[in-house]
Amino acid sequence: MHCVTVKAGMDCAFMTKSGCGFNGGSCHQVIEQCDGCQRVMETPTGRYCSSFPNPSAKWRTSQCNFATHVKLESSSQQLAKINPLKASKRNTKGK
Ligand code: SF4
Repeated sequence: MHCVTVKAGMDCAFMTKSGCGFNGGSCHQVIEQCDGCQRVMETPTGRYCSSFPNPSAKWRTSQCNFATHVKLESSSQQLAKINPLKASKRNTKGK
């Protein structure tokens, strides 16, 4: 259904006949980390993300994976996230 609250006219999965079903009853505004992202929408009611209803949740644990203004973490940082158990098994197979 199309939003009739803060992003009026946009198709939204949270909008129902009885109103916005998102936590709090509407989208939350973008946060400081979103500055420069192309998904930021300027509306008469404020600045919102066109992809997510709660931008602060996207930045809570790490950077937003849909952000257009920041690069993803380098591959060396991603390697650090490999499951150590699986890496250990992989190493023993070679012996
Ligand atoms: S895509 Fe991520 S960084 Fe961009 S506005 Fe939305 S929440 Fe913010």
